[in-house]
Amino acid sequence: MLIKSATFITSAVKPSQYPPAVLPEIAFSGRSNVGKSSLINKIVNRKRLVKTSRTPGRTQLINFFDFNEAFTFVDLPGYGYARVPEAVRKKWGPMIETYITGRSTLKAVVMILDIRRTPGIEEQNLTGWLGSHHIPIIRVLTKADKLSKTKRKKQLGLNANALSLDEAAFVLFSAKSGMGKEAVWEAIESVLGISR
Ligand code: GDP
Repeated sequence: MLIKSATFITSAVKPSQYPPAVLPEIAFSGRSNVGKSSLINKIVNRKRLVKTSRTPGRTQLINFFDFNEAFTFVDLPGYGYARVPEAVRKKWGPMIETYITGRSTLKAVVMILDIRRTPGIEEQNLTGWLGSHHIPIIRVLTKADKLSKTKRKKQLGLNANALSLDEAAFVLFSAKSGMGKEAVWEAIESVLGISR
């Protein structure tokens, strides 16, 4: 995908603040520090379009970005950061569920998982909301460069088992090496209906 323009649109916490639902949208979700900003920046070839907050998880904002005036990427707030105040943490579920269940232009969610972990309760909840609204999930195991080939394969198997999915349902990714970048785009272009 050739990214000709990349623009931050707005931040929102509730639907009245979302931009008009016009262009097809891909949302990105993941635990705080999973590598979500790095993944988005890597695939769109922009070093600092999506900024990492220095206190991860404190700002629970949904950030919208326009690409090529053709589609929108949505950076959903990270979850699971231990030092986030309980009051903030409680807002995550309803905020994400409201976005997912009410956004008519949402085409898919890229669920980003650390390859060294296995899915937790937040991923299970998310999978449930998306499933009931028939929204495709693109599953990405990131930081793949941190594991040897053998350990990578083992973690892929564990993640596939945990979600009762085929190993082919996951993209192995590394923002460091660029591994999986093409595969992520293939999945995104497929749900956006863009032919390659
Ligand atoms: P976010 O909180 O999910 O947006 O996570 P970031 O993108 O800010 O990444 C968190 C940390 O993990 C940073 O120190 C990144 O440099 C590092 N990181 C992210 N992706 C990768 C990756 O694919 N490989 C390696 N080795 N480090 C990564």
